[in-house]
Amino acid sequence: MTDRANDSFFTKVVHAGLDPDPLSGAVAPAIHPSATFARDEHGDLRDGYEYTRSDNPTRRRLEGAVTELIPGALDAAAFASGSAAAAAVLRTLKPHSRLLVPRDMYHGLRRLLEVEAEHWSLNVERIAMHDIAAVQEALRTKADMVWIETPSNPNLHVTDIEAVTELAHAAGATVAVDATWTPPGVANPFDWGADLAVHSSTKYFGGHSDLLGGLAVTATGGQPQFERVRFLQRLEGAVPSPFDAWLTLRGMRTLALRVERACANALHVAQALEAHDGVLAVHHPGLTSHPQHAVAARQMERFGAMLSFQVKGGPAVARQVPLSSRLFTAATSLGGVESLIEHRAPVEGPGTDTPHDLLRVSVGVEDARDLANDLTAAVDDALHRQGA
Ligand code: PLP
Repeated sequence: MTDRANDSFFTKVVHAGLDPDPLSGAVAPAIHPSATFARDEHGDLRDGYEYTRSDNPTRRRLEGAVTELIPGALDAAAFASGSAAAAAVLRTLKPHSRLLVPRDMYHGLRRLLEVEAEHWSLNVERIAMHDIAAVQEALRTKADMVWIETPSNPNLHVTDIEAVTELAHAAGATVAVDATWTPPGVANPFDWGADLAVHSSTKYFGGHSDLLGGLAVTATGGQPQFERVRFLQRLEGAVPSPFDAWLTLRGMRTLALRVERACANALHVAQALEAHDGVLAVHHPGLTSHPQHAVAARQMERFGAMLSFQVKGGPAVARQVPLSSRLFTAATSLGGVESLIEHRAPVEGPGTDTPHDLLRVSVGVEDARDLANDLTAAVDDALHRQGA
């Protein structure tokens, strides 16, 4: 493999895992759809490949590229979805382990834990992870894993990974970060001592809303857990198809460009919303008004392309805004080239703490002014229609 250690992110992301094929010189990587692999003339496996559930050349290429791309990463395992990657990491915990998770977190994982904690015999505690005093209090007692999501979904609380990791390690806990909202180019949890990172590669890695995927990535501290993650990946087979692995690799080539543009757009849109009379609050770590802006400025290379905001007029206006927008598609998910918006609380269902006047926005790579004009006009239209 070529040594790319000193290349910058913009260079690495184009070349990671992309050495031309030694036989044909093909610049674009091959897709290996084969489910099984022939042994050589001695009856041995060729380069370890036996059966695609265990390992596959396209998937291995993706895992290698991700490991190469993220400073501090030692290995990566690709899964069929971000949720599958997260579940594998969580299931490294032994029965009766104590797991701390953020109160504000991706609702799918919150729901998974609510139902499965009993079956997995885990003691799960939800805390305000962005509040270091709350973390300190919770970690007076031994814990096994601390799960961080920063910025959190959908309120965009920012957690100081370094400070939490220090406390967690002192209490005997491994630190895993759901870094879906902070792909390479936005933040790297390993810079701040985290042991494991999880990404839904459905989002920024893929970048085009046309695949499902997940990644579990380990730094030195997460290696014992990662061995079990790899075991679960290979034995359970919640893996991406070779085509999805290939699509992820293809999307990754433009990750730096997309992230740079989308993050700049998001800050512009957040500032436009903040200046709008019909908007009660805007949650985006790049705004100086964000309560953890200083932590974000230290910890993040860019402030991310996600934001949420609360509108005057309550849920009726919030429901209308996506319908009044022309450029923001009313759909769930994030991290694609196109901007998306959703009225979040109904998506999260009963039991959610998410305010009912909140809209979650994934900002894409369109023109910043077009996006800001469209969204502020949509708020105006929604307020007008609801007579608010
Ligand atoms: N983590 C976060 C923060 C997410 O936003 C999502 C999906 O929206 C996931 C995990 C789950 O990813 P997937 O849909 O690929 O399972």
